[in-house]
Amino acid sequence: MAIFVFADQHQGTFKKAALETLFYASQLASSRQQEVVAVVMGEINQPRALADLGKYGARRVLHVDAAWLNDFDARLYALVLKEMLNQYAADRCLMPHDFNGRALAPYLAAQWQAGLLTGIVSLPDDKDCYQKQVFSGKATAWIKLQTERQVLTLLPNTFTPQPGDSQAQVERWQPTQVSAQQKRIQLKEVQTTQGRVPLTEASIIVSGGRGLKGPENWGMIEQLAEVLGAATACSRPVADAGWRPHHEHVGQTGLTVRPNLYIAIGISGAIQHLAGVNGSKYIVVINKDPEAPFFQAADYGIVGDAFEVVPRLIEAIKKYKG
Ligand code: FAD
Repeated sequence: MAIFVFADQHQGTFKKAALETLFYASQLASSRQQEVVAVVMGEINQPRALADLGKYGARRVLHVDAAWLNDFDARLYALVLKEMLNQYAADRCLMPHDFNGRALAPYLAAQWQAGLLTGIVSLPDDKDCYQKQVFSGKATAWIKLQTERQVLTLLPNTFTPQPGDSQAQVERWQPTQVSAQQKRIQLKEVQTTQGRVPLTEASIIVSGGRGLKGPENWGMIEQLAEVLGAATACSRPVADAGWRPHHEHVGQTGLTVRPNLYIAIGISGAIQHLAGVNGSKYIVVINKDPEAPFFQAADYGIVGDAFEVVPRLIEAIKKYKG
């Protein structure tokens, strides 16, 4: 039996988290002597990209080449996936734990009558238990799904793909039970942050909190992000106050990120914030209060006024980069 992976793409470019999930699935499959099937929805303008999924572990690619699937639609994608998984008598479907995966996975699990386990961070142990963080990252649980069919989401930045040189066998696949008539959402407009690294895919994140006093002071956060090639994020009160857009809010009620480097500026380090960032490899905290709880989670800390420290940091990095 094959392991199916929803390989999310945008205009022919596969998301980093999708490639990580494929690689993860290939590790999972090799211990069970299974093959990995990547599922790609919508038209694609670079057909070679499909076969290239073989480099990340896909043996086969099933391409649902239909214009009505070009825009992500959790409900519709779940219906298509369900039909495909049933046709191939699959028992496992994986996807990244990102915006789209978080929307699609529960829909699919309900439609397909499968067990759902989200945000896993490990391969299963010999008892088929998967590791995931619980209680806002304060504890780790090993969870076993008792169902035969399983939908799993993998936390981004958990596994680093090591691309090989295999090519996947690409096949077109058309649903017979789902059609364009079932589409209920029409995408009117997409606003993109040109040139910016998506938050969940960023390896460096510069994040600001209420200590920055107001939106007018975000220029230095953006500058620091620019010199580091980083994405920007913020704490929840900052997004709630409208200083920054909500899609930048990280934490328990926002995004979970796992960059190599997370720089927190003027953020106290409340447990709800830490829940979304404590999987980061290195955490640097800049805060004027030496008692700020964030310092306990930090690998490096600077006690100081952000308005003095950050401009000096930007200058130092610029000088270092020449
Ligand atoms: P503050 O707590 O006000 O901290 C500001 C920090 O800036 C302080 O530590 C201060 O010392 C420092 N500072 C001030 N001036 C300067 C300066 N000039 N230079 C350097 N440092 C300075 N929060 C989230 O972030 N994400 C979530 O997902 C989230 N979910 C929540 C869910 C629930 C159910 C609840 C109850 C709360 C949630 N919160 C969340 C809110 C959370 O509890 C905190 O209130 C919030 O994280 C605090 O944001 P902050 O650190 O930016 O602000």
